[in-house]
Amino acid sequence: MRRYDFIIAGGGMAGLSLAYYLNQSVLRNKSILIIDKAEKKTNDRTWCFWERGERNPFEAIVYRKWQVVDFYEPTFSAQLHLGDYWYKMIRGIDFYTFVLTDLLQNPNIEFVAQTIHRITNTPQGAFVIAGDEATTYIADYVFDSTYTLKLTDPHRHNLLQHFKGWEIETDQPVFDVNRATLMDFRVFQDNDSRFFYILPLSPTRALVEYTLFSDKLLPPEAYVDQLTHYLQHTIGLTGYTILHEEFGVIPMTDEPTPERVGKRIIRIGTAGGYTKASTGYTFVRTQRFTQEIVGNLLTIGKPLKKRSLFRRRHRLYDSILLNVLANHRYPGSEVFAQLFRRNEPAQVLAFLDEDTTFQEELKIMSTVPLGQFTVAALDVFRKRVLSLI
Ligand SMILES: Cc1cc2nc3c(=O)[nH]c(=O)nc-3n(C[C@H](O)[C@H](O)[C@H](O)COP(=O)(O)OP(=O)(O)OC[C@H]3O[C@@H](n4cnc5c(N)ncnc54)[C@H](O)[C@@H]3O)c2cc1C
Repeated sequence: MRRYDFIIAGGGMAGLSLAYYLNQSVLRNKSILIIDKAEKKTNDRTWCFWERGERNPFEAIVYRKWQVVDFYEPTFSAQLHLGDYWYKMIRGIDFYTFVLTDLLQNPNIEFVAQTIHRITNTPQGAFVIAGDEATTYIADYVFDSTYTLKLTDPHRHNLLQHFKGWEIETDQPVFDVNRATLMDFRVFQDNDSRFFYILPLSPTRALVEYTLFSDKLLPPEAYVDQLTHYLQHTIGLTGYTILHEEFGVIPMTDEPTPERVGKRIIRIGTAGGYTKASTGYTFVRTQRFTQEIVGNLLTIGKPLKKRSLFRRRHRLYDSILLNVLANHRYPGSEVFAQLFRRNEPAQVLAFLDEDTTFQEELKIMSTVPLGQFTVAALDVFRKRVLSLI
């Protein structure tokens, strides 16, 4: 049985981010094992996110970025200038290559390509059982991003963000590389929140994605029909070639997804509840939380520190928005339209990024339909009380 200081179970976005920050600190001298069932050799996803300036350490691999984005909704359309924010895109393959190149230089970091069967907490350490031979590894801490969330609590809101995207190439130059489309709600909503986004990669190449917030997936052909219809009838494109396809499902949930599941097992990434419940964005929060883990290990010798109730107030805002959407109290398209119409875009992005003061939050929240959001807030409190009984 091999013993390590840290085992990172799952070398995807969160596992590799954590490993990267450990490797940038004095903790690089600790023994670290990364276990993943798959090698990271394909461009299996792209991450979009917004940030002010160049805060993340992966700026060198940002594939495209935009400071102006378009927003379309039947009652309100605008070119949104993001102020000091940039909307950025990182390709999965560039992220994996960049981080792995960094990690491979450290002889204290080992990799094994095995499927993990079980992770258990014991007084001696956390055990990971993996591979065909059921090899056991033990560590002071296991950081687990392989756990699949169950999400079945009837007192919570469990929506899905699901999307299908095509990277397309056109014969003629039709895309403005300086302007992405953040949200285009000019599509049949069918009582959900449905929109397209377009990330122009060159005048003839773009990633176009059809995204839904709803409680059920669509049949596969429905995504294709909508993409085809949008490209032809809304954008007016007829001649294009599909270069690459992407499909994904991200949980939009306010069900508690604890990071700590034992003294020595910490869940990270989607498994650790890093996904922002109301938007599905995970990349920036993963950078923030994995950096916090490294900071805590360095300062208090433990990965997690209790977050104050006040700092967790954003979860309540997320629950209220999920309640509005899940109960169809007000169309999601109009909520976003009102937010962008009545606030500075940078302020909306800061709010969604949990980077606002309480006063700023009150101001932003006063710009959504108050009646429906108050009913939703009362329902959220009612459900919370019921879940305690
Ligand atoms: C197609 C797609 C696009 C997305 N786009 C965005 C975006 O634009 N912006 C954003 O903020 N978020 C986005 N997300 C959400 C989120 O950022 C990603 O899902 C992100 O990859 C989550 O990181 P993670 O480490 O939690 O999971 P993953 O990156 O999926 O990593 C988990 C790792 O665990 C491994 N693993 C799983 N089970 C086992 C096992 N039993 N044994 C061994 N290894 C195992 C997997 O091989 C994988 O490498 C997207 C998600 C998808 C699916």
